[in-house]
Amino acid sequence: MSLQDIKQKTAEDETLKQLNEIIETGAWPNPVPVELQPYNRCAKELCTYDRLLLRGHRIVLPREMVRQALQIGHETHQGVVRTKQYLRSKFYCPNMDLDVERLIRNCSACVLNQPLHEDQPLQPLELPPRPWTKIGMDLVGPIQNQYILTVIDHYTSFPEAVVISDISSATVVTELTNIFSRFGYPLEAVTDNVRQFVGQVLESFLKSCGIKHIRASPYFPQSNGKVESPSLDMEIRTQTSLHHIFQIPTSILSKWKKNWSHQQVSRYLH
Ligand SMILES: [Zn+2]
Repeated sequence: MSLQDIKQKTAEDETLKQLNEIIETGAWPNPVPVELQPYNRCAKELCTYDRLLLRGHRIVLPREMVRQALQIGHETHQGVVRTKQYLRSKFYCPNMDLDVERLIRNCSACVLNQPLHEDQPLQPLELPPRPWTKIGMDLVGPIQNQYILTVIDHYTSFPEAVVISDISSATVVTELTNIFSRFGYPLEAVTDNVRQFVGQVLESFLKSCGIKHIRASPYFPQSNGKVESPSLDMEIRTQTSLHHIFQIPTSILSKWKKNWSHQQVSRYLH
């Protein structure tokens, strides 16, 4: 998309042709036609410059070119808010925000690029006295309509991860039961405040297992100097943003867990 393209399409666009004439003469039709009303509302900001229409410092984009601009703005998968900000800083076209929302709403890469816990500060975690006394639990997704339940031992950073198709409390409890049946009950479980970790079902389950539930800042292993494994969601985000390729969860899981042999786990847990 070049300035020359925009100038040419502006000259061909019926609405912008009318708008150009109005700006030149300063005379708005009465009543103002529907298609010109959004421009009429910002009439004082409009001007022409070298065959371009400008609203302030932004280029008024012909409707035909909006899709092209959207594709450029969406190249780095920054999500709805940032893509809107980027496009608004350069272009104006009525309803452009709606176009951004329609395009990006279902983009998995954009979803993965959004910070999960923007308002919560990262906090380094105190090392527990021994393995599997304190665990962190988190849910990642949706990714291709699936979720990943992650459980990380705070002492060893040993990760457990299960792909689940729904995130009801009942499913989470079932998967936690499986994990605890293999490794035993921890004393404490740290979660953030996502709905599945707040409900009565999980609360009762943890209580019945004698596990203290701590709701805290999300567990980010990289904030703890003792922990070396990258967190799962960071791994997915990095891969997605770097390569623009959607990685299937199982391939990431196997990579994430590759350094953990059964012997290592046994050594830590027994
Ligand atoms: Zn995207």
